[in-house]
Amino acid sequence: MTPVEFLVAAQPSRTQRSTLVLPNTLLRRALACLLLGVGALLAPFQRSAHAETPPAQTPPAQNRIIPGPLEDLGREYKVRLVYFVPKDREIKKDYREKIEVLMRVVHDIYDRDFKAKGYNTRGLDFEFDEDGKLKVHLIRARHNAEHYTGNPPTSDRLFNSTSNEMVATIGYPAHRACLVFSEAGGIAEATPAIPFCGVAMVSADMLRDEITASTIEKQIENMFDETPVKKADGESSEPRNRATQISNGVLMHELGHIFFMIHDQRDQRNIMAYGYHNLRLMFDKKTALSQPVRFSEDHARIAAATRFFSETIDEEDGEGPQGELKFLTPPQPGDTQVKFSFTASDNVGLKAVIYRESTLDTIIGGESLSGKTFERRGIFPRPIALTPGQLLHYMIYLLDENGNVALIQKDYRVPAEAQP
Ligand SMILES: [Zn+2]
Repeated sequence: MTPVEFLVAAQPSRTQRSTLVLPNTLLRRALACLLLGVGALLAPFQRSAHAETPPAQTPPAQNRIIPGPLEDLGREYKVRLVYFVPKDREIKKDYREKIEVLMRVVHDIYDRDFKAKGYNTRGLDFEFDEDGKLKVHLIRARHNAEHYTGNPPTSDRLFNSTSNEMVATIGYPAHRACLVFSEAGGIAEATPAIPFCGVAMVSADMLRDEITASTIEKQIENMFDETPVKKADGESSEPRNRATQISNGVLMHELGHIFFMIHDQRDQRNIMAYGYHNLRLMFDKKTALSQPVRFSEDHARIAAATRFFSETIDEEDGEGPQGELKFLTPPQPGDTQVKFSFTASDNVGLKAVIYRESTLDTIIGGESLSGKTFERRGIFPRPIALTPGQLLHYMIYLLDENGNVALIQKDYRVPAEAQP
């Protein structure tokens, strides 16, 4: 196959982070969002507020869009909902109804976005009880909250200890995207679905009456209601619509990480940036059609190709694709672009790829693939020239036609001095 020249779209200028993201346990950190409770989530959001955002006006009720009920699609690959309550914490009233309301919103946003982009999918599927009700696994945990958070609390400890007890209690989540509402502490983290199961964990603070309703009509109303409500700390307050949009939005963002959607900061309308601050705009008929809150094309393509969305999977194909990233010339201090080649192959057919550079905390490109082999030579631009000794970490998700994935990573330290 002839290599095609390729320039990955330039980044908006952003402050570079100095953190190196390494494989293994730190892969999850690459997907980590903010490790604090919903109340504390607000600080970074305030920093990235956008001047062009329309004010949260209350539209007439007839202009609202109300997400429909969830139904069992009979898919093999489903979302599993888990409510994890440590021994010293209380079960919140109406948790099941509230989680169903939250997931109706999430399903609706994914569904409208992927359909608007032309993907053949009925959207996310969920587990249901024998009586036809949405299934929420209530886990009355064995220990007090501090056992899970650690003291001092760390997100790694909370994520791992909760995941382990979940598996020990209700079994290994094969073919499941697990969404865990934790009463133990503040968290918003996720692992990608490798192999075909992943975990997203959020704080169950969002199940408070103040910000999550037990009916869908009231939940949509909450997104437009500016009445001040107490934050989780019980002291300071915030507008209800802000807390509701962010908490319901965090769910779809964290689930997105399971489906290989990493952060995409190229457009702040993206759900995999902070686009979900303005979730209400998708439930007002006057604004929804322009998709003011969205997944990027590169992200939707890769998620729609997973087994959690695709309608054309051959499960007999268990062989993942192969890929290799090379630098055409070793990156040097002062370089404003990185020349690369990427080759890929699959036994059946390639489907999609996204490219990420971890120190920028965003994907930097992606494309649709076809055929059994692929070769790309191109340029990853750098918004800021490379500095001596800085680290680069490229991360590529490659999907085949049957939802098998490969993660290709490449670490590189820029030399202290330019090489002759
Ligand atoms: Zn995130």
